[in-house]
Amino acid sequence: MSQIENDLGTSRLLRDWYRMHRRELPWRESSDPYIIWISEIILQQTRVAQGMDYFLRFTERFPDVASLASAEEDEVLKYWQGLGYYSRARNLHAAAKDIMERFSGVFPDRYEDVISLKGIGEYTAAAIVSFVWNRPYPVVDGNVFRVLSRLFAVDTPIDTPKGKKAFTELAGLVMDPRYAGQHNQAIMELGALQCVPQNPDCETCPLKGRCTAYGTGNVRAYPVKRNKAKTRDRYFHYLYIICKGKTWLSRRKGKDIWEGLYEFPLIETDRAMDFTELQATDAFHRLLEGAGRLNVSVDLQEVKHVLSHQTLYATFYRIEIERENDALKAFLSVATRDVEKYAVPRLIHIYLEKLKGNLSE
Ligand code: SF4
Repeated sequence: MSQIENDLGTSRLLRDWYRMHRRELPWRESSDPYIIWISEIILQQTRVAQGMDYFLRFTERFPDVASLASAEEDEVLKYWQGLGYYSRARNLHAAAKDIMERFSGVFPDRYEDVISLKGIGEYTAAAIVSFVWNRPYPVVDGNVFRVLSRLFAVDTPIDTPKGKKAFTELAGLVMDPRYAGQHNQAIMELGALQCVPQNPDCETCPLKGRCTAYGTGNVRAYPVKRNKAKTRDRYFHYLYIICKGKTWLSRRKGKDIWEGLYEFPLIETDRAMDFTELQATDAFHRLLEGAGRLNVSVDLQEVKHVLSHQTLYATFYRIEIERENDALKAFLSVATRDVEKYAVPRLIHIYLEKLKGNLSE
């Protein structure tokens, strides 16, 4: 994650998008920490559409800390009925009493005080102090995990302590501290409306041009969860061999992936390998023996490509050779400019697009 510097441009794009696309929600109009607190706890239980009625009824009956603190527990629970997790309603009630006693009925504005209240964890505390007082605490909820993991293609599983720590750090780096509240709301809203779990709307996403998962065609791979069923790892080394304006392709056969599609000569290994190791394999020797001097460049390195039951790590080498050798006769010889005319897997399409970009630069 060290390559991710504090990038305020992302925060600006998010906030610009948020101003145009945010949903009008009753608690968004409020700068009352009590109102924000109630809305956040209700939204942990339910979706916005269902939560709205509960929020309106609850805050009508208990409009402030004092009214909630002085209510009977049974009545608080009654207003919570249907939301489930009654312990959350009990915690709200207990915290309201605590605010009356410890803070004279005034909702505390320091993060440390807010998080000391019963039922308030890191996420809720950060949401309250940033939304209301613009304090620079990043929020990290499911939506934020998803957006960040895709934006930076972070492999660390989100459901581990290490993941939680890494994503909190990353969320802080992306946030412009001058606009913490709006930034936090914007990134959560993007996750709720645009960067959704299934079929995110990448085409109209303000972060499209910066999103690594989108750029590599790997949106489905993120976020990574530890408990996911194990998939098989495969290591593909594609050789884009060029000689006098020609290159070579083969068509995939058999029951493996991508049957019928075209690809460059492929060497598959059971572990990651750099070029020195690859060059020493029998497969490499067989393929390029007699081709003369090789001029090699690595165009794409270990691109991760996730399929339903396997993860591919693909490296693309561009190899200019002096002469066509016998081994290449087993492949289809194609003019380099015509490669685009063949049906190729998405992974190779990405590579070709990158090549085009490089050539036109
Ligand atoms: S481009 Fe797609 S995956 Fe990337 S942040 Fe936007 S919606 Fe999410």
